[in-house]
Amino acid sequence: MTCFGEGNLNRKIIASVLVAAIALLGGCKRSSETSETSAESTSLTTVTETTVNTSETSGLKLYSADEYRAAGVNELNSVPILMYHRIYEKNNAETSYTGGNVDKDGYNRTSEAFEADLRSFYQQGYRMMRLTDFVDGNIDVEFGYSPLILTFDDGIRDVVLLGWEADGTPLFDPSCAIGILEKIKAEYPDYNVTATFFVNSQLFENGEENDRKVMKWMVDNGYDIGNHTKDHAKLGDCNADEIEKQVGYIYKLLDDIIPGQYVNIVALPYGSPESMGPDKPKYDRIFSGTYDGFNYTSKASLLCAWTRSYSPFVRDYNNTAIRRIRAYDNNGEEWDIEMNFEQLNNGKRYISDGEPDTIVFPSSENSSGDWLKETYGHQVVTYD
Ligand SMILES: [Zn+2]
Repeated sequence: MTCFGEGNLNRKIIASVLVAAIALLGGCKRSSETSETSAESTSLTTVTETTVNTSETSGLKLYSADEYRAAGVNELNSVPILMYHRIYEKNNAETSYTGGNVDKDGYNRTSEAFEADLRSFYQQGYRMMRLTDFVDGNIDVEFGYSPLILTFDDGIRDVVLLGWEADGTPLFDPSCAIGILEKIKAEYPDYNVTATFFVNSQLFENGEENDRKVMKWMVDNGYDIGNHTKDHAKLGDCNADEIEKQVGYIYKLLDDIIPGQYVNIVALPYGSPESMGPDKPKYDRIFSGTYDGFNYTSKASLLCAWTRSYSPFVRDYNNTAIRRIRAYDNNGEEWDIEMNFEQLNNGKRYISDGEPDTIVFPSSENSSGDWLKETYGHQVVTYD
């Protein structure tokens, strides 16, 4: 796993907190209002009193233990990263499959079901965020709410262009993924509507010139575009040179169309390979290589799907094998949307403290503050 970001090593906290470590915050000044004990050996700030203030210098906002407890704040819990494919203009009643599934396996979804998913997640207290920020450990979601990440693979029926307005604004089919996302964005300004679209060489199938213009519009309007390989290749079956070609081709293309504005993340077709490691050196080419004179690096790769992702703040999280939830219906069984969200909502969901530069969780959770601090540079706060 890579080490993310520089973090804010010089954060200064002016707050009434008990500092539960001697090694707290290397390089940080402690205010006179903090006291310390040597009872624990991890680098944690434990919030025990009710008055915790915002530092004027850092803007770092802490709450009381009571407030954290009441909201159930836990940033070591799991995050739903939804995997969608095609969105078809259909009502659920128009398909012969369960719920909003358009095909037997539920990879494609009706427009009715997709829109209902988005409304439902909002009502359950989820708010969207960018996948690339998640990978960077930069989770900026309002206090008491939970992050939600949307991904779309293959580019087909996701961004269906009908034409262009006179001012250059794209006119989308209102039943495709981005058509519905734009509708929801207008309706719920605090939902932070965003999604990452993983494309193959055919992009969104609106014709190359149109797709180039559409992609520029997308990255300027809160959406991200990532890499799903040139030919939707099963990378686990490819040799190193083929992997380099499959991954590098798309990065080179994205760099030509939206230089510096795409995300260096690969959604692995078929979720292959499922694991990478020093014993499988050819898979390194997913993470760095050169194609046709173009050097690329990736910072993460996504598996195909079944369940919620680990928080990036736990050791089980692995940025080469990020888990996703397959967005389908199966009567609450076999890891469909309903089953996944039922588990999330029953004590497994990441609930934010509203402050991206702190990682907050109950002190009963087992974690290493030192590891978190070194990896992300965030302040670690626990509460009883
Ligand atoms: Zn795919």
